[in-house]
Amino acid sequence: MAEKESDAAREARQIAHAHTQREEGRWVGGIKVEDNPFSAKLVERYNEAAEDLRACPHLQKNFDQPRFWVEAVPELLACKQCTPAVAREEQARANSCCVLCGSHAKLRGFTVASGPLVMRGGFCGDCEQREGPQL
Ligand SMILES: [Zn+2]
Ligand SMILES: [Zn+2]
Repeated sequence: MAEKESDAAREARQIAHAHTQREEGRWVGGIKVEDNPFSAKLVERYNEAAEDLRACPHLQKNFDQPRFWVEAVPELLACKQCTPAVAREEQARANSCCVLCGSHAKLRGFTVASGPLVMRGGFCGDCEQREGPQL
């Protein structure tokens, strides 16, 4: 762990942690994302979306701050102050598919921080039962 964490990365981690506590979800930012099937899939989705990503005006001015991405609103990358708008859009779309199996179900949200990036998705009960212990 010789690499120093940037301020943006540290804030992203703290925000993801706080999110997770509020929702009583699990905190998965402290482990290697690629070792976890849910977060690995979420990162994959982010990478797929990254080509068409639109950053909010604040990020366009200063990219060195925590960045937020929600799987339900894949085209948008937002700064902290824009997250309420993203959350509204997430609710409006309500196209919640399990990040792992893709089924429409009642989902539990989870938040993953990777560097300055905070990613959010949801998983269904079946997948949680199948993969849960790894999370
Ligand atoms: Zn913004
Ligand atoms: Zn599922």
